[in-house]
Amino acid sequence: MSKQFDVLVVGGGPGGYVAAIRAAQLGFKTACCESNPYADPKGEPRLGGTCLNVGCIPSKALLHTSHLFEEAGHSFAAQGINVGTPKIDVSKMMARKSSIVDQLTGGIKGLFKKNKVTLLNGHGSFVAKTPEGWQVKVGEEVVVAQQVIVATGSTARHLPGIPVDNKVVCDNVGALDIDSVPKKLAIIGAGVIGLEMGSVWRRLGSEVTILEAMPDFLAAADQDVAKEAQKLFAKQGLKFELGVTIGEVKIAKKGVSIAYKDKSGADQKLDADRLIVSVGRVPNTDGLNAEAVGLKLNERSQIEVDDHCRTNLPGVWAVGDVVRGPMLAHKAMEEGVMVAELIAGQAGHCNFDTVPWVIYTSPEIAWVGKTEQQLKAEGVAYKAGKIPFLANGRALGMGEPSGFVKMLADANTDRILGVHIIGANASELIAEAVVAMEFAGSSEDLARICHAHPTLSEVVHEAALAVDKRPLHF
Ligand SMILES: Cc1cc2nc3c(=O)[nH]c(=O)nc-3n(C[C@H](O)[C@H](O)[C@H](O)COP(=O)(O)OP(=O)(O)OC[C@H]3O[C@@H](n4cnc5c(N)ncnc54)[C@H](O)[C@@H]3O)c2cc1C
Repeated sequence: MSKQFDVLVVGGGPGGYVAAIRAAQLGFKTACCESNPYADPKGEPRLGGTCLNVGCIPSKALLHTSHLFEEAGHSFAAQGINVGTPKIDVSKMMARKSSIVDQLTGGIKGLFKKNKVTLLNGHGSFVAKTPEGWQVKVGEEVVVAQQVIVATGSTARHLPGIPVDNKVVCDNVGALDIDSVPKKLAIIGAGVIGLEMGSVWRRLGSEVTILEAMPDFLAAADQDVAKEAQKLFAKQGLKFELGVTIGEVKIAKKGVSIAYKDKSGADQKLDADRLIVSVGRVPNTDGLNAEAVGLKLNERSQIEVDDHCRTNLPGVWAVGDVVRGPMLAHKAMEEGVMVAELIAGQAGHCNFDTVPWVIYTSPEIAWVGKTEQQLKAEGVAYKAGKIPFLANGRALGMGEPSGFVKMLADANTDRILGVHIIGANASELIAEAVVAMEFAGSSEDLARICHAHPTLSEVVHEAALAVDKRPLHF
């Protein structure tokens, strides 16, 4: 007889493993199957999906090491610390990154044990709906579940005609495992991953050129922030070519040659030792047997869901990168929790208007809510407060005076509509703005909160005061 579960989660990334843990906490007999591309040396699945294995976590480990390297080389001396010229041991840096990945992926296995989630090692695909529930083939066995949560995530998009070997031409997987500092590194795509990976290798000594098809830099961000970022990154040595059309990419004995048309239409060529292709991600719906059971996909091959992650099939839900919305780990986790709670008959909730975005460059970039250009396009009357980090004692003490906090609030109600930060620790500072917006807070609410001194959070406080044109320290 087939194994029976109340809830089967397909995919063990942030959306899937969190949904499984929450479902088990709510008393459901829960299993999670993982198709296992990130097996450990014993062939056991490493949980955590893209995020833990080849995404958020390893990239942040490399960003941290390369940041320290740059500090040691460029900032220590100004503070009276003389360490000589730092040298990078790339294999040690990679080993540290891998051990963090192992620690965290192993930790999720521990959480599964603690919460009594059954881990099934194998690719999941729908078989049929039966009176007992959904039959899903996992590896060689067929299991049955009343409710199925699809959390199969996404994989890197490749470009036609550009073969990725993850040695000379890398996607995000290879980009996290480059074994030496390339003299010249080319990146196609100036999105979040392109900027983060470009920053890592530039700090370690590569000459980095980023080719971007869009005419605008960071089009999704507030354009004030995008302009500041482009200026600061260019000053750091990142080279950008916007509005390009990529042509033929040839892999030579040593390196790669990229033909492209620049924004004026002129033919150009870029030679590099390595190329990172970072042009977005595609949802993993192949191999789910979606068509056979009538699971509806949209034109982008994402599983079609409503605001509560319900698919068109009863008892089948989908969360994370495989559905609409930003491809972010925390959004996937929020959806996973929401679905488990909805299955339990609770009022599961996910506020898509307060999902924060972060780019872990230096300075960091983070935002939540609407950009100024969106408010203008929507004809919303707003007021803005903007304060530079240069006016903050803690930022100066840290040697991180770049950037600003910009707060946008409704001109009539004062409700905060968006907060945009470029500056040190923006990834942590944005949490206060998220809390304020989640509770429909106003700039006045934030202005009245006591912020510790000296902290970077005082810049957020001052930006709230500036919305009402009464900053105290600027
Ligand atoms: C380099 C990089 C850096 C990133 N940095 C950040 C960041 O800093 N912050 C952030 O929020 N996001 C970041 N992301 C995005 C983040 O990793 C994803 O949004 C997140 O992992 C999505 O979670 P998920 O559970 O939907 O899918 P995934 O993490 O992709 O997990 C899906 C899992 O399902 C498994 N699977 C697929 N098909 C099947 C099947 N049929 N049966 C069984 N198992 C299956 C896969 O093996 C995988 O383990 C980054 C991504 C990359 C590539």
